[in-house]
Amino acid sequence: MPGEFDLIKRHFARPARRARLGVGDDCALVGVAAGMELAISTDMLVEGVHFLAGTDAQRLGHKTLAVNLSDLAAMGAAPRYATLALALPHRDETWLAAFSRGFFGLADAHEVELIGGDTTRGPLTLCVTVFGEVPAGAAIKRSGAQAGDEIWVSGSLGDAALGLGHLRGQPGLTPAQAAYAVARLEAPTARVALGIALRGVATAMLDLSDGLAGDLRHIAEASGVDAIVAAAALPLSVELAPAFAALPLDQRLRSVAGGGDDYELCFTARPSQHEAVRAAAACCNVAVTKIGTMTARRGALGALVFVDSAGNPCVPTLSGYDHFGVRT
Ligand code: ADP
Ligand code: MG
Repeated sequence: MPGEFDLIKRHFARPARRARLGVGDDCALVGVAAGMELAISTDMLVEGVHFLAGTDAQRLGHKTLAVNLSDLAAMGAAPRYATLALALPHRDETWLAAFSRGFFGLADAHEVELIGGDTTRGPLTLCVTVFGEVPAGAAIKRSGAQAGDEIWVSGSLGDAALGLGHLRGQPGLTPAQAAYAVARLEAPTARVALGIALRGVATAMLDLSDGLAGDLRHIAEASGVDAIVAAAALPLSVELAPAFAALPLDQRLRSVAGGGDDYELCFTARPSQHEAVRAAAACCNVAVTKIGTMTARRGALGALVFVDSAGNPCVPTLSGYDHFGVRT
């Protein structure tokens, strides 16, 4: 029976490429190019909290890295390295082989090197730290939005929320819709190229992991402005638009703006950059949609208002997912 070190060797150790020293010593060693800054982010996935027990291992390998790449994308950073800490309930070579296939499939697509990690026994928990590079001073923070900025999102919202609903037994999706929604939930796309293309264009940016309603509030709070979002402008996928149309407005908005796991980028840009935003998105073959406008702060901290076509507030309370928040 192979032990911990054989498992690492078999499934995770690969020769170092850009790194000066990769898996196998006490630390990895990497250099940073002159004039660049390291962007670093950690995200953890816990079985039963972030994914359902029995989730396909290859998709989980993909998602574990994708959610981290999404954070780099949200800063406009180019992914370079990752570390992977795993707690596994038991040794399962088939599971590990599929997991590492999913992980390295995405890592190779983005030329990310796995340079270290930790492997222990415990409840299934997957924790990745990613290291990206961005020209010094060019990272796109949450705090740069100004009154008058346009608010944009990439791709489509709410797909993963419908996928999760489906896995939890909610009816209403055709088999093809269900397969699409579950794939968006379990194998999200990190908008890495778009994030990089928005350097110097977006004034503030983050990735949508906990739902637009909660996440956009973070930009508003950090920037000291308010956000007004046109509910009808929120982009839906072609695949799931008919399913959303069948839902009552309230429930539709709860999925589209309150559901998590979208991993789309939400960003702000000056109206004068409208065409630059469109050009950046066209370059990376990603759809972007203008969903609203930042306005001067009116009082409450980081206010976010959804409005209908007449400009009237239309959703009473919507918030993003908060692990330690009070669910109402
Ligand atoms: P240490 O005892 O010094 O913490 P470990 O025995 O945990 O080292 O790990 C040995 C080597 O294997 C280290 O280089 C570590 O970074 C790497 N490693 C351990 N687990 C993983 C993993 N899941 N993926 C990639 N590298 C790993
Ligand atoms: Mg260790």
